[in-house]
Amino acid sequence: MSARAGVVYLVGAGPGDPGLMTARSLELIGSAEAIFYDRLIPPGALDGASEGAELVYVGKAPRKPSVPQEEIGERLIAAAREGKSVVRLKGGDPFVFGRGGEEGEALRAAGVEFEVVPGITAGVAATAYAGVPVTHRDDASAVAFVTGHEDPEKEQSALDWEALARFPGTLVFYMGVKRLADNAAALIGAGRDANEPAAAIERGTMDGQRTVVATLGTLADVVEREQVKAPALIVVGQVVERREELAWIERRPLHGKRVVVTRARAQASGLAKRLRGLGAEVVELPAIRIEPRIESNEVKRAVEQISDYALIVLTSPNGVRLLFEAMREAGLDARALGGWRTDGESARTAGEGTSTASPSRAGTTVAAIGPGTARALARCGISADIVPERFVAESLVESLAAIDVSGKKVLVARAAEARDVIPKHLAERGAEVDVVALYETVREAPDPEAVEAAQVADYVTFTSSSTVRNLSEALGERFPAKARIVSIGPVTSESAREAGLEVHVEAERHDVDGLVTALLEDAGR
Ligand code: SAH
Repeated sequence: MSARAGVVYLVGAGPGDPGLMTARSLELIGSAEAIFYDRLIPPGALDGASEGAELVYVGKAPRKPSVPQEEIGERLIAAAREGKSVVRLKGGDPFVFGRGGEEGEALRAAGVEFEVVPGITAGVAATAYAGVPVTHRDDASAVAFVTGHEDPEKEQSALDWEALARFPGTLVFYMGVKRLADNAAALIGAGRDANEPAAAIERGTMDGQRTVVATLGTLADVVEREQVKAPALIVVGQVVERREELAWIERRPLHGKRVVVTRARAQASGLAKRLRGLGAEVVELPAIRIEPRIESNEVKRAVEQISDYALIVLTSPNGVRLLFEAMREAGLDARALGGWRTDGESARTAGEGTSTASPSRAGTTVAAIGPGTARALARCGISADIVPERFVAESLVESLAAIDVSGKKVLVARAAEARDVIPKHLAERGAEVDVVALYETVREAPDPEAVEAAQVADYVTFTSSSTVRNLSEALGERFPAKARIVSIGPVTSESAREAGLEVHVEAERHDVDGLVTALLEDAGR
């Protein structure tokens, strides 16, 4: 159910991996009118927020004090009283060292209705990603979540070190890096074995998660030496040794590899997700942005006469999306391409890996350059008639050979700056070709932080000539010198060479799957 007006939802966003956000949290983020969020929420957590939603950062800014707890409570109450649906988004679980309890109390005192949406807390998530089971039949029948950093204003420690020393199970300290040496000494002083295995887990479930293992007696030194930084958890217990068998993120095929994705942000997520799923640390460094051009007269004209085209050729998922958007604006939908079949037969005849439409039918034949474009068409209710085996213009030209285009109207709808192979071929065969630009790819200024992160990248991936050209020009000397360059296909590779780059890996299949396969093979060598 979507967020209700006047209600505050205290929502856990999980420990950092966006995939560990709950379905409920995403649903509420998508429907809330105001979202108050902390620093420790997963990257992209707010991507699904609705367009008009008010997004308010109430976390700690560098070198500034955080928004006082009281003020947060007041702002939540005010927003709810304005009749808004409000999400209060916190890292991990809101009730585990998240001050969610205090916020709930403030809301109750003010008579504001609230709900709590638990999140996966770092204490179980960071440990699980480190290969440390917090309980284990042989090693630990209990687990304690402990704060390692108490409110400095408290006069007496609330922590009973004797009890913690005797605790028969795993101890997990949150916020415990700063005071690790003191806390370890207190535990040992109270009788806990200095030789007990202990670990610090930094950035659990996030890019660059790191685990250092030592003993309770030595962990503080190791953490100091290795410069473990917040956010990090401290785990004390025999279970830490299970990591030798159970560590898994370090065993993923692209673990420890930093990979730069240069696609436009709107398209990058699929590739980035795939790479992250294989353990890579992904740096998104979009070199281009898609600028729609569907308001142009040439697009409007083409859309007006869309039903007159015998053949429409689409060369990218963006093209599909924008063509249908332009059609929608003109009050049309997929039926405009439907036509009326005169032959009564199936319009599809299977060729060698290529399906080709019967040219005798009245409806429009639709050709896609590759499976991504075909999938985008399918989402618009169109099953592409032609999808070539290989995903380059030349191969589409081969597939188009089966269709009689002579004297027929053909639409090639694509990016402004594209190669002319397809229109030229169709014109040579006597077609009356309209080429319209549905969008333009414009250079996107690189984000300095991403450029910095890319400097030590192991791989830079390129999925089109325009990303190669724009990125190499934008970065110049700052182009990551040591990275291996992975290209999606021969045309992109050629552009890379023209830009003075050496191409180390070229995909055999010219799509995202093919690119990932090629990168994996190279990394495995
Ligand atoms: N409510 C949060 C905890 C907030 S307290 C939860 O349930 O997870 C903040 C502390 O949580 C940090 O100091 C750190 O000890 C721990 N923490 C949060 N996210 C972490 C992560 N991704 N990896 C390791 N520790 C994390």
